[in-house]
Amino acid sequence: RESKGKLPKYPGLERYTLLEKMGDGAFSNVYRAKDNTGQYEQVAIKVVRKFEMNSTQGGVLHPDFEKKAPKTVERANILKEVQIMRQLDHPNIVSLVDFSESRQYYYIVLELCPGGELFHQIVRLTYFSEELSRHVIVQVANALEYLHEEAGVVHRDIKPENLLFYPIPFVPAKSAKPKGPEDEDKADEGEFIPGVGAGGIGTIKIADFGLSKVIWDSQTMTPCGTVGYTAPEIVKDERYSKSVDMWALGCVLYTLLCGFPPFYDESIQVLTEKVARGQYTFLSPWWDDISKPAQDLVSHLLTVDPDKRYDIKQFLNHPWIRKSNEPTLAAA
Ligand code: ADP
Ligand code: MG
Repeated sequence: RESKGKLPKYPGLERYTLLEKMGDGAFSNVYRAKDNTGQYEQVAIKVVRKFEMNSTQGGVLHPDFEKKAPKTVERANILKEVQIMRQLDHPNIVSLVDFSESRQYYYIVLELCPGGELFHQIVRLTYFSEELSRHVIVQVANALEYLHEEAGVVHRDIKPENLLFYPIPFVPAKSAKPKGPEDEDKADEGEFIPGVGAGGIGTIKIADFGLSKVIWDSQTMTPCGTVGYTAPEIVKDERYSKSVDMWALGCVLYTLLCGFPPFYDESIQVLTEKVARGQYTFLSPWWDDISKPAQDLVSHLLTVDPDKRYDIKQFLNHPWIRKSNEPTLAAA
C-alpha cells in the first residue's frame, strides 16, 4: 500500500484528500479519498489522464501534444460515461458523486466500495459455494434488470474486476471455503471472509460504465431516434446489445461456481475461436458437485445464438435463482 506522502497532488481536487491508491490502468488511477467538506465520509476518485504522457518530454505535457492528441474522442467517451452514470440510481450500481476536470485530468468522483473487486474474493476463496454465488449473481442481475428494463442502458463490460462490493460490517473469518453457520465458532478475528453463514458478502455494485451505451431514451421509453421511424435492425440491435450483458453474466456465474472462467486459452486466436463456437465444458472434477440446476442456468446464458440466450427476466425466473426466495440467507 502506498503511503500518504507518495500520493500525487492534483490541481482542482482540493475538496478531497487522497488516502490510498485502489486501482490503476493505462489511463486511469483510482484513489480512496476523504471528502474535506464532510458531505461524504469517503469516496473513490477515478482520475483519468487526458493525454498519454510523452516519455521523451519527461512526463511534462508538450504544447504540441495537445494539438496532436484526438482530445474530442477521449473527451466524448468520458462525458458519455459520466452522463450515463448521472442518470442511474440503483443500490447495486456505483453512484456518481461529482465530476470535474483540470487541464490534464478528468476527475470522476464515485461512491466508495470499500471491499474492492469481487475478482479478489474469488482468487482468495478459490471458488464460491452455490449459496454465495447465488447471493452475488442475484444482485448483479437486479442491477442488469434495472439497466436493461428501466434505464435503457447496456453495460458491455460485466466482469469480476468491474463488480465491486460494500462488505457487511463484520464477518468472522472461518475456513478458507465458507460452509455455513456451523463453523462460525472457528472464527479468526479480523479477517474478512465472505460466507452465507455469516450473512453473505455484502452489497455488490456494478462499476465502470466506460464502455456502456444508451439503447433507448428512458424519458420516452423508445429507441434512440425519432419515434415511429425506427428501423427493425435498430430494434434488434437493442436486443442484441442486452444479450451481450447476459453472456457476460453467464461467464461471471460460471467463474463464481468453479473459480476459473469458461473460456481460456494462452493464444488469443484459439480463445477467440472457442468463444465464437461457445466451446466450454463443465470440467470434471471441479463441476462434479455443482448442482444440475446451476449448470442448466449457466448453459442458458452461454448460448451462442443471442435469440435463444436467456434475457434478464428469464434469468430471474430460473428455478436455481428463485431458490433465493427461500429463507436460506439471513439478512445482513
Ligand atoms: P477502468 O476503466 O480503468 O477499468 P474502473 O472504473 O473499472 O476503470 O476502475 C478501475 C479499478 O479501480 C476497479 O477495477 C476497482 O479496483 C477500482 N475502483 C473503481 N471504482 C471504485 C469504487 N467506487 N470503489 C472502490 N474501488 C473502485
Ligand atoms: Mg474496469
